[in-house]
Amino acid sequence: MKLLEYEAKQFFAQEGIRIPKGILASKYEEICTPSSTWPENVVIKAQVDVGGRGKAGGVLMADHTTVIETARKLFNSTIKGVPVQRILIEERLAIQHEYYVSITIDRTKKQPVILFAEAGGVDIEETAHAKKDAIRSVSFSPLLSDVPGFLLRELCGNAPGEIQKTVNQLYHVFCKKDALLAEINPLVTTPDGVYAADAKLIIDDNCLDRQGIAVNRDLTDREREAEKHGFSFVEMDGSIGVIGNGAGLTMATLDLIEYYGGRAADFLDVGGGADSERVMHAVRLVAGVPSVKVIVVNLLGGITRCDEVARGIIAAGAPVPVIVRIAGTNAEEGRRLLSEKGYEMLDTMDHVVKKAVEVTG
Ligand code: GDP
Ligand code: MN
Repeated sequence: MKLLEYEAKQFFAQEGIRIPKGILASKYEEICTPSSTWPENVVIKAQVDVGGRGKAGGVLMADHTTVIETARKLFNSTIKGVPVQRILIEERLAIQHEYYVSITIDRTKKQPVILFAEAGGVDIEETAHAKKDAIRSVSFSPLLSDVPGFLLRELCGNAPGEIQKTVNQLYHVFCKKDALLAEINPLVTTPDGVYAADAKLIIDDNCLDRQGIAVNRDLTDREREAEKHGFSFVEMDGSIGVIGNGAGLTMATLDLIEYYGGRAADFLDVGGGADSERVMHAVRLVAGVPSVKVIVVNLLGGITRCDEVARGIIAAGAPVPVIVRIAGTNAEEGRRLLSEKGYEMLDTMDHVVKKAVEVTG
């Protein structure tokens, strides 16, 4: 789970890392206060999960007279296609130097690894490519609760001592928050000391529960609906809706769609023993994906009974064609029910997928 900058900054601050004063706003109306209430200079930052946000126009400079107007523009914009729903307005730092620091896990060494560059900022990727030695790294035993001092000195080179202290504090965040990545770019020096001007934190999804972070906070309405029914559901951008039972069969259906040159609109595994009602909800859910032009139902009857499946498909009354392959328990009866209603059925998954790809062109 990737946190947004303002959330990550709160966690950084809890460990003593200095962050600029700022306010979060989710509506333009919230920030319509007189210019006298604003600091002389501000930075307005879109809170969107997008890399290279600054270069894409998501970080804007303003002063107390232009802050509201600038914020209004940012609210009405999209950054790399992502609509801006929240903005962070911060007192602008008088930056003297920008460093880069990030902490992650070296899976080969089974150790935390810290990367540091004297030249941080928005061009860090280019810097890393152009100059291999621009980024230093150290790794150490995960049993240590602090980064050893000699490694901090090696890592940070000529950077001020307060930078070393901040790197160690960032390591505390990394451990306490079960992070896969903790990054500050840029970590800056100013006349009043060191600040985290930006913040990035990715929490290990396996640890969201003990971190008290809601697992489903970024779900779409359809994904929430799927969760309610206990479906494994992922929405994609193709035109062929997919319903299967069992992750293996469903994945294989997706693979076959790709193989025949089609694009899947979703992955939906109804699970074992699905009754007609479950199947009905599944078909309706997939039919609701805007890009869907046809739905492939590929179900193997074991505990699941194919006549129940057929009843569910019929009850759903999908507005797009549903092409069905059912095999196993009560398949005969299921096929009879579906053919009465004029549904197209084919006897192998190869055939249903080929047909669906044909239908979508
Ligand atoms: P990113 O593009 O998403 O990484 O956004 P950042 O928060 O890192 O901001 C991009 C760049 O904007 C930084 O590298 C800084 O050069 C500049 N910037 C951000 N905050 C401040 C600030 O408070 N003062 C000044 N002078 N520049 C800032
Ligand atoms: Mn940044």
